[in-house]
Amino acid sequence: MAELVFFSGTMDCGKSTLALQMDHNQRARARVGLIFTKLDRMGDSVLSSRLGLSTHAHEVGDDLDFWDVVVEHLTHGQRADYVICDEAQFYTAAQIEQLARIVDELGIDVNCFGITADFRTELFPGSKRLFELADRVQVLQVAALCWCGARATHNARIIDGVMVVEGEQVVVGDTASASDTLVEYEVLCRRHYMRRMNSHAARLASATPDVLPFDLDVCAVPPRG
Ligand SMILES: [Zn+2]
Repeated sequence: MAELVFFSGTMDCGKSTLALQMDHNQRARARVGLIFTKLDRMGDSVLSSRLGLSTHAHEVGDDLDFWDVVVEHLTHGQRADYVICDEAQFYTAAQIEQLARIVDELGIDVNCFGITADFRTELFPGSKRLFELADRVQVLQVAALCWCGARATHNARIIDGVMVVEGEQVVVGDTASASDTLVEYEVLCRRHYMRRMNSHAARLASATPDVLPFDLDVCAVPPRG
């Protein structure tokens, strides 16, 4: 039976690396796949991992219809044994439904990889629909670590060194925008997410001479907003 599987986790938990490994393993068995991604850090139409590997992929725009793409592919006499979808958190709910239909009506395995929640701790639309529809959700076990060494479970957005919890859901990181603000992302444990304590803030706090030797005081919550 074909399956719709969602491999989910934080940033830096190795999702894209696993997507590439899965594609490699399938191709080694002479299986043919279609690979999709959206807003990859390396640019359009490429699926890349932080370890330096990459492969060509179809770029997913909001108006892309997965059902149409796969059916057209098959209609031209080409094979599709599996579909791999990276950055699936950014897909629309309708696109996730198209992927489910590909599994059910065409019998093709669809493996989606994506971040669970955004920098506000809210589910991305694609991730939400995948939780609702997937045959299986697999939380990736390569744990990303917070700066404190604890397992990182949350994605924080950092603007010019300061963690924010409000703003547009999708802003691609590591880019200086027109206004010269630097947007970055950092994975944190829940405790430090709740305290708005990213690594930069922690360094500043530890450099302050008058902090008491109690963890709670070292990690005082910086004022919001
Ligand atoms: Zn932490």
